[in-house]
Amino acid sequence: MSKQYRPVRSVLLAILAIVSHLVPARPRMTVLVYHGITSGTDFFAVKPKEFERQLEHLTKRYTVVPLERAFRHAAGEPATEDSVALTFDDGYKNFLTDAVPLLCAHNAPATVFVLSGTPGAADIGNDAPLLATEDFASVASSTIGVGSHGETHKKLAKLSYEEALREMRDSKRVIETQYGVPVRYLAYPKGSYNAQTMQAAERAGYKGAVSVVERSVKVGDLAYALPRVQIDASTSLADFKAKLTPAADWYYWLWSTFKRH
Ligand SMILES: [Zn+2]
Repeated sequence: MSKQYRPVRSVLLAILAIVSHLVPARPRMTVLVYHGITSGTDFFAVKPKEFERQLEHLTKRYTVVPLERAFRHAAGEPATEDSVALTFDDGYKNFLTDAVPLLCAHNAPATVFVLSGTPGAADIGNDAPLLATEDFASVASSTIGVGSHGETHKKLAKLSYEEALREMRDSKRVIETQYGVPVRYLAYPKGSYNAQTMQAAERAGYKGAVSVVERSVKVGDLAYALPRVQIDASTSLADFKAKLTPAADWYYWLWSTFKRH
């Protein structure tokens, strides 16, 4: 979103969040997508201090669940309390140094989507260091799951079916060999997917895949296109709180309708 619209977004989200408190709602399931947790100036990066405040809010008001629970919610086993699953795309080194200690301190499970190849800075849009093979063993734990984000961050929907299938299969196999942990889920690089990509993801052996379509997870959502809500440098704490309420779904619906016109 361009800078000039951000104050509009904050005001709209705040108003919708107030209204949403008046509407009775079923327990919600939201999957958040982060990228780097760093003091860097990258648009997608969230500062460690900010992330800590967000985690405090999450653990006070929500149940932080493993990503697998969000897939079960979509598959027809609805959450019994308002829940949030945390995901981190690209697998930056700062996930290990800055995010993991805070996640552990708050007993919050998370999933990191790593790249099996060695993408260039242009492929992922910044030059922050990525997790190296020797870091892999320290990342995976009983609460930190590892998923695939492809090999080199290619837009999967732009590849042929065979190429996309090979990319998804190979990245799963390489990460499983290097981490020694089973890879169950995929995050589409740059949110790029189509019906064919979804089929290939299933055939490549993934149990599900996450997109960057922004809204909460609904019962009945497709396992190969689970929506996620993005948290980045432009997300204030008030925005963050509002993004976890039904206000987020209303806001994203209004925003996409506005963009269509
Ligand atoms: Zn990415």
